[in-house]
Amino acid sequence: MPELPEVETVVRDLRALLPGSVIAAVWTSSRPLRVAWQAEWTQHLVGRRIGHLERRGKWIIVKLDDNASVVVHLGMTGQLRVCDSDEPGDEHVHFRLRLNTGRELRFRDIRRFGSLRWMPPGVPIDSVPRGRLGPEPWDTDPEELGRRIRRSRRAVKAILLDQQVMAGVGNIYADEALFAAKISPLARGVDLTKRQVRQLHRALNRVLQRAIQARGTTIRNYVGGSGLGGGFQDHLQVYGRGGQPCRRCRRPLTRLRVAGRSTHFCPQCQRPSGAASEVESCPSVP
Ligand SMILES: [Zn+2]
Repeated sequence: MPELPEVETVVRDLRALLPGSVIAAVWTSSRPLRVAWQAEWTQHLVGRRIGHLERRGKWIIVKLDDNASVVVHLGMTGQLRVCDSDEPGDEHVHFRLRLNTGRELRFRDIRRFGSLRWMPPGVPIDSVPRGRLGPEPWDTDPEELGRRIRRSRRAVKAILLDQQVMAGVGNIYADEALFAAKISPLARGVDLTKRQVRQLHRALNRVLQRAIQARGTTIRNYVGGSGLGGGFQDHLQVYGRGGQPCRRCRRPLTRLRVAGRSTHFCPQCQRPSGAASEVESCPSVP
């Protein structure tokens, strides 16, 4: 699933390709995405000029010249990119914004967990997701992050995945940041020390910034807004490496399910001081 670095890469790519273009037509497939496209949204869009693009958490916001916007979530397998209108598509293309430039903004989504919606002027993005979005990782300091994490008895991995605690972090970067900070994903938030929270804050910022520099992680479907994939999969320390040797201590990495998500860590370098209850047995642990 695309996380903050992948979504940020899409936004940066699209910023170089979309602003100034005028929407000439809207096409949607007959198979709905997570949110069904409404016919009236098409009327709002045709003739509008595209302005600035923003990211908030894992959401993409395409601003229009009337202050309305198109808000996009990539879901699990969504690809949002600009291409020539005559480039052949396949049955997984579910949305096209044809532009006056001969190009189009195309949304392709194999699993169809992604969504696009029109938002009227003045409606804040934070009203779209269920529950409020937490701050961006670089808009918190260690004290604020500590307050958010240490009031919970859940496993720290589950806390990091909670978009109300912090927006944008998902499974890959939670595992990578916890490894960098030498914190067990099973540790309870309430049990983390101030020092551990400072280490985690630094690790999150560093891992996310490095992943953005590498254009994100392409494991299956993810591509940026120009169609180019990511490169951070070559730098992953623990994610997807269950059973392989830890790059720090050479002992085998473990894979467990925590809060319903596959979780990768080194039991030696990330020794738990107490386990939370979200741990489930995982029959496919290598
Ligand atoms: Zn290790």
